[in-house]
Amino acid sequence: MRNRRNIKRYRYSNKGKIPLRELHIRDNGVCAKCGDFVHLDVATRDHRVPTSRGGSNKNKNLQLMCFICNQLKANKLVA
Ligand SMILES: [Zn+2]
Repeated sequence: MRNRRNIKRYRYSNKGKIPLRELHIRDNGVCAKCGDFVHLDVATRDHRVPTSRGGSNKNKNLQLMCFICNQLKANKLVA
């Protein structure tokens, strides 16, 4: 029996999501949390409103965050 599992693969690529590089430019390379300049190497995308709380994947809901802040945020159970 043959699988067709690879067919959908390319549909997911960046559709509707701002590339990290463009987010970096849009937010002037500044971390939304600590306000420091973030190098693209350590920049991450963060959801203002988590998708688990009904936040969307749209660009408006995304912000630039440095890797460290993102880790701290992930470790905390934010109220
Ligand atoms: Zn930061």
